[in-house]
Amino acid sequence: SRAARADAPITDGALADGTKIPLLANVGRPEDAAKALELGAEGVGLFRTEFLFLDAKQAPTVASQTDSYTRMLQAFEGKKVVVRVLDAGADKPLAFLNDAEEENPALGLRGIRALRASEQILRDQLEALAAADAATNADLWVMAPMIANQEETEYFVALGREHGLKTVGAMAEVPSIAVLADQVMEAADFVSIGTNDLTQYTFAADRMLGTVASFQDPWHPAVLRLIQLLGDAGTEAGKPVGVCGEAAADPALAVVLVGLGVTTLSMSPAAFADVRAELLEHTIEQAKAKAAAALKATSAQGARDAAAAA
Ligand code: PEP
Ligand code: MG
Repeated sequence: SRAARADAPITDGALADGTKIPLLANVGRPEDAAKALELGAEGVGLFRTEFLFLDAKQAPTVASQTDSYTRMLQAFEGKKVVVRVLDAGADKPLAFLNDAEEENPALGLRGIRALRASEQILRDQLEALAAADAATNADLWVMAPMIANQEETEYFVALGREHGLKTVGAMAEVPSIAVLADQVMEAADFVSIGTNDLTQYTFAADRMLGTVASFQDPWHPAVLRLIQLLGDAGTEAGKPVGVCGEAAADPALAVVLVGLGVTTLSMSPAAFADVRAELLEHTIEQAKAKAAAALKATSAQGARDAAAAA
């Protein structure tokens, strides 16, 4: 029961057979670190850096960014911290990066596209991250949002390396990246799947719009099959594939994601206890069986039912 789970000991994320599945935190500002650690975060899987600057009129300075990133890395000393560079646009516009005139901002110059168009802002952020990394002892990973193909991956990885960053990856949020999973895996050190946007773009249904909210369901086999492509490519290449969208916080879906080849789960820390308990009840073979059953369904509800019965 939920009450029993709340009292269960805080352990590292693992399956019944001992397979480790690190449970990482989604965070937006250094103040989020304490609560995440208290609830057992094994690190950070998504630091949404744009949250720091939603009200800023001007691009933040390198010094102010270095300060924020240093505080976050200090809080997670000895642990992995995956930082996302500014994801500006659509639901999270930044005055200094986005053009308010776009008719379809979700399909416009957002994420890595906006950063590339204002490259000095990206360079400043990477410089601040490298400085924070040098001043602290966390394991810093850096990734870019809305990557659509291998060329964008190569661009971002090269810029990261130029700034001395060791582990550089791509978010998988645009369906093209799943179709091209093998090519992206060649260029990136890791991939992290953003299931919120991946679902939105798979169904061409705005994630903020109530009238099409029924499409925003990551259980749908259309989304699961894209995740399978990424999981298989990661296994093949021997590279980590995480999930950092809301899907990771759904305990039953978390098991299915692991069965699809996902190696880490990042979520709001409030979800740790339930996800931890559910993972502990299944072996990797059981997770794979649930994933296989869900993939064959024809609807999101069908996939839920099939996974539960498998
Ligand atoms: C996602 O799209 O799933 C994601 C993790 O990023 P955000 O929700 O910040 O767009
Ligand atoms: Mg996203």
